Amino acid sequence: MSKSKGLFVRAQLCIPGGVNSPVRAFGAVGGIPPFIKRGDGAYIYDVDGNSYLDFVNSWGAMILGHNHPIIRENVERVCKDGLSFGAVTELEVEMAELICELVPSIEMVRMVNSGTEAVMSAIRLARGYTGKSKIIKFAGCYHGHSDALLSKAGSGLMTTGIPDSAGITPSCAHDTITIDYNDFIQLDYVFDQSLHDLAALIIEPVAANMGLVLPKEGYLERIQEQCKKHNVLLIFDEVITGFRLGLDGAQGLFSIEPDITTFGKIIGAGLPVGVFGGKKEIMSKMSPLGNVYQAGTLSGNPVAMAAGIAQLSYLKNHATVYSQLEENGNYFYGKIKQLLNSHGLSYPVNHIASLGCAFFTNETVENYEGAKKSDKQAFAKYFHYLLKNGVYIAPAQFEAMFISAAHTKDELDRVLDCMKNFLEAEV
Ligand SMILES: *Cc1c(COP(=O)(O)O)cnc(C)c1O
Repeated sequence: MSKSKGLFVRAQLCIPGGVNSPVRAFGAVGGIPPFIKRGDGAYIYDVDGNSYLDFVNSWGAMILGHNHPIIRENVERVCKDGLSFGAVTELEVEMAELICELVPSIEMVRMVNSGTEAVMSAIRLARGYTGKSKIIKFAGCYHGHSDALLSKAGSGLMTTGIPDSAGITPSCAHDTITIDYNDFIQLDYVFDQSLHDLAALIIEPVAANMGLVLPKEGYLERIQEQCKKHNVLLIFDEVITGFRLGLDGAQGLFSIEPDITTFGKIIGAGLPVGVFGGKKEIMSKMSPLGNVYQAGTLSGNPVAMAAGIAQLSYLKNHATVYSQLEENGNYFYGKIKQLLNSHGLSYPVNHIASLGCAFFTNETVENYEGAKKSDKQAFAKYFHYLLKNGVYIAPAQFEAMFISAAHTKDELDRVLDCMKNFLEAEV
């Protein structure tokens, strides 16, 4: 028995499904997940000594690749002074200043411990600030696992075939209105109903939790316009796109100024960090200045701040990372599209910069319904072929691939060869 298999058996006895986050269980693709022991650069290594070229990268957090010396050294240095104080530290101020400097729509931030917390608190803030209750979200957008946001929430729920989680009260779901991504008519309709109780609209400006789906031309602009017109706060969930599509994220790329932004993943460089922020006027509603309560024993933890500051500073000082990611992304995803075409398949390959996703369907994918048409069995075959050949992608169709700065053209070419062999063998 492999060590991974032994560990998975043990894990299943003491952890539900053997995992601390559902997608890791390989439920959608079958088989035993390799237990990962370490990572270095573009590669991860499992407990059985196999290596994989990694395209998950802790769901995008490791944009510089694994075990980056600058980040590791900063964390090690800060660790030596103690792990947590539950009191104010200089590193929190440095981190907050850095984010406010890099993202023009943000004047103040509050640190939390995950993307889920960031979004949950951002929603509470929006309700507290506006005095209104309802929020609009989009089917297939994932905003973490807090109660109000688990309706048609894409990603892990799509993978496990759960439309909406059990355990959420009707009154909680009642205040969430879910509409289709990229649908102008539904968007105008909800606003024109002039629901006087609308507090906020939340969106992933590039949806990366139903596979990858880009906003249609003018869609984000229309959202901004409608929000402004109806005094509804616009929340961009940039937990994936933040510091990935550029230093100022999707909002910089599409020139949209959201009222509140949430970050996670890259901002913690692999440690548990989430952030929400926005204009001073709105953020001043947060306790202890205002009456929206929110707190955290480990929020702004010095070790987590050290990792985040190191990664963000590196990105700030090496602008070429983004041009390289964009060039590699265009090359890689473009080649995948060509490969599919040369095998007579017109599968869509949605991509933007380092994020991308091929869908096993002949139709274009621009929302949740479209993504669901993908052939999950075909995906499972493709996944296992890649895994067997040392390429680790997310074990589910409804996730994006994450290219990191550690991936070289040669490595991308090796994956393309592998995909070519798969298509020749299977199609
Ligand atoms: C991952 C993710 C979250 C949740 O972040 P966690 O750190 O897993 O709680 C929220 N929103 C988006 C867009 C995400 O991709």
